[in-house]
Amino acid sequence: MRLVLVGPPGAGKGTQAEFIAAHFDIPKISTGDIFRANVSGGTELGQLAKSYMDAGDLVPDEVTNAMVKDRLAEPDAANGFLLDGFPRNVQQAGKLDEILTELGVALGVVLDLEVDFDEVVKRLSGRRTCKQCGHVWHVEYDAPKVEDVCDKCGGALFLRDDDKPETVRHRLEVYSMQTEPLIEFYRGRDQLVTIDAQGAVEDVTERAITALTPYA
Ligand code: AMP
Repeated sequence: MRLVLVGPPGAGKGTQAEFIAAHFDIPKISTGDIFRANVSGGTELGQLAKSYMDAGDLVPDEVTNAMVKDRLAEPDAANGFLLDGFPRNVQQAGKLDEILTELGVALGVVLDLEVDFDEVVKRLSGRRTCKQCGHVWHVEYDAPKVEDVCDKCGGALFLRDDDKPETVRHRLEVYSMQTEPLIEFYRGRDQLVTIDAQGAVEDVTERAITALTPYA
């Protein structure tokens, strides 16, 4: 299965990506995670990406495209993959087609996670991420036992710069302007499957797996 996940920030792409990838036994490739790992590791790529990420803007396409091209050429992606966070605009979607053509494969399906923007602001600004293990908690929906301490590893929790309310609003504007046109792009190619991404995480996972199974 060669799958792309789209949806606004806070639609639960990261969480659903993990369950879906595990279910279909394909690697999850998240451009946001790769950028964050590079920022933590202090690499050149991380230094370049950080200012864009903190502001809630997209990292320049040529940087992102090159990173995805390298990652998709790795052996574990040969029999399928789930892309989370890429493509983020129509230019990147064209680049993805190019990369896949070079690799001699084609995109199978695009899963669109639909959620309304008020819900997204609530979800994102309540998120707390563990500094140590990266697990994401939520002050309201999935609170750790002790405030600001990770139940899994005891690490300190923090609010990602890009989850601050003013940045969340900006990320949603970026989504509407740049990423939403992708939905029509893929619908026009008959590659889009849309599910309702509101409600309990397990229910959304079930909807996703049911919708994707015909493409497996
Ligand atoms: P995410 O975790 O997917 O919300 O990504 C966090 C941030 O990483 C985004 O706000 C962007 O700054 C950057 N990023 C992730 N994926 C892309 C992409 N495909 N193109 C450009 N920037 C990206």
